[in-house]
Amino acid sequence: MMRSVRSALIALCISGGAGAAHAQDAAPRWSLAIHGGAGVIERASLTPEQDAAYRAALQRALDAGSAILGQGGQAMDAVQAAIQVMEDDPLFNAGRGAVFTAAGRNELDAAVMNGSDLTAGAVAGLTTTRHPIAAARAVMERSPHVMLIGAGADAFAASVGLEQVDPSYFFTERRWQGLVKALTEAGQPVPPRPIGAPPSGAPNLGAQAALPAPPLNEKKFGTVGAVALDAQGHLAAGTSTGGTTAKRLGRVGDVPVIGAGTYASNADGCAVSATGDGEYFIRATVARDICARIGSATAPDAAAQAEIDEARTLGGLGGVIVMTTAGAPVFAMSTSGMYRAAAASDTSARVAIYAVED
Ligand code: ASP
Repeated sequence: MMRSVRSALIALCISGGAGAAHAQDAAPRWSLAIHGGAGVIERASLTPEQDAAYRAALQRALDAGSAILGQGGQAMDAVQAAIQVMEDDPLFNAGRGAVFTAAGRNELDAAVMNGSDLTAGAVAGLTTTRHPIAAARAVMERSPHVMLIGAGADAFAASVGLEQVDPSYFFTERRWQGLVKALTEAGQPVPPRPIGAPPSGAPNLGAQAALPAPPLNEKKFGTVGAVALDAQGHLAAGTSTGGTTAKRLGRVGDVPVIGAGTYASNADGCAVSATGDGEYFIRATVARDICARIGSATAPDAAAQAEIDEARTLGGLGGVIVMTTAGAPVFAMSTSGMYRAAAASDTSARVAIYAVED
C-alpha cells in the first residue's frame, strides 16, 4: 500500500507525456498550475456531481489565470486572478467558504512571492478583507513590510482600497457543520453561530443552494494556490487559506510563512505553493527547500517528493504544486487526492482530483 502511494508521488505529473516532453523541447511561452487543497479525497467519497463541481471550479480559476498569461501578462497577475476566483468560490477553504476557528470565526491567511526579485507579501488572521491574496500582494507592493496580521492587516487592506466585507460574508453552512462535527468529536464546546449567519435550519439560499454536500471525512480541504511562468520568463507563487478546522484563535499555518507554504525564485527556477498540515510544512521549510534543491540541479519531481516525504516523516501530510522555468508543472502529494489543474501555451488544460488519474 505504502509502496503504491510512493510510486504515485513519483509518477505524478498532470500533463503526463506532454510534461515530460517539455523538459527536452523549448519551454512553453507561459505555464500555469493551480491547486484547491490536498487531503483524503477518494473517488468513493465524492458523488459524480461533487466531482464535476470541483473540476468546473478549477477550470474557471485556470481560465482566469490563463487569459492573463495568454495576453502576455505577468505571472503575478495570473496567480492573483486564479486565486481570487477560488477565494470567491464557496467550494474552497479560502475567502468565502473558509473553515472556522474553534471560536467560530473565519481567520484568513495568504501570501505571494515574485521569483524575479524575491519580493514577497503575506497576511494572517484577516476577518474582513474579501480577497486575502490581494491584501498579501498589497503588503508586498505598497508597504515596506513582508507580513501583516489581524486587525492591522485588514485596516491596511482597507486603506489601499481593497474591498471589505462583514465577517459573515465568509460563512457557509457546510464549513459551520464541519466545525460542529470536529468540536463535538473532540469533546469541545461549540460556539454560538456567528452574528449575521443565516439561522440554523434555514434553507440554503443564493450561491450556497448550488453547493454539493461536503465529502465524507472532510477536515480541512480547500486551501488554494497558483504558480506561474510568464512570457518574460518570470515565476510567481501565491497561496490563500482559511487554515484548519477548529484551529485555535490566532493560529497561523504555513501558507503566509514565506519559504514554508509559498516561495518563488527565478534564480532557482522554481515557484511553489503548498497545502497540507501547515505546522509540519513550516518545520520542514517545504517551499524554500524545494527551490533550493531545484537550484542545485535536483530534478523538480524528485525535489518536490523529497520535501513531501520530509514533512510526512515529521508527521504532516499534504501536497505541493511546483512551476519551473521549463514550464512543466510538477504535482506531488502524500494524500489520496489534491484538487489541481494546469494549462500552458502549448498544452491543453488538464484538471485532476485523485492522486492517480489517467
Ligand atoms: N496548509 C494549510 C494550513 O495549515 C491548510 C491546508 O492546506 O489544508 O493552514
